[in-house]
Amino acid sequence: MARYTGADCKLCRREGTKLFLKGDRCYADKCAIERRNYPPGEAGKKRPKESEYRLQLREKQKTKRTYGLLEKQFRGYYELANRQSGVTGENLLRILESRLDNVVYRLGFAKSRAEARQQVRHGHITVNGKRVDIPSFRVRPGDLVAVAPKARDMLVIKSALISNERVQVPAWLEVDIEKLQGSVLSLPQRDHIDLDIREQLIVELYSK
Ligand code: SF4
Repeated sequence: MARYTGADCKLCRREGTKLFLKGDRCYADKCAIERRNYPPGEAGKKRPKESEYRLQLREKQKTKRTYGLLEKQFRGYYELANRQSGVTGENLLRILESRLDNVVYRLGFAKSRAEARQQVRHGHITVNGKRVDIPSFRVRPGDLVAVAPKARDMLVIKSALISNERVQVPAWLEVDIEKLQGSVLSLPQRDHIDLDIREQLIVELYSK
């Protein structure tokens, strides 16, 4: 599957905000946003012209990059959200949050969504006792997401658990650190999602 292979920190600098793509480094002084908070490239320090379109585009790019998705897949999620009843922007965020890679990250089993995706792809995660190696798999209320028995001693998961002590598990999930598993209590509501995203701008962009 196609994926972005450039420098993660450049994406944060482009969006002018921390997207938390690199685990521990994002909380340290080394974070590129702490040191060089202007867009990468020659014209980086020039102030770009503000326009409605630009605001909408940047919000879409920021969200897409936060979840580590490419345009085609992100657009597909928007189309799906638009077909569902309710508020399209909230539907979109709910779909993104319920991806298995995001859930693994939110439970604290990985330091970043990219690392969580890797763990899922490598078969280290189970859902309801069965191995699931598809990062885009969407969890449902009542699902039990766990670290597979063979992966329990893996250093990467242990170090993620240590570093994620600072991360608050959202109210729609419940984690059992001893058992390395988490339950999906419900699908997330908008106030469960602690991201600074104005989803209405994304809807406006795609509705044009
Ligand atoms: Fe973004 Fe993390 Fe890099 Fe900081 S360290 S710029 S938050 S990816």
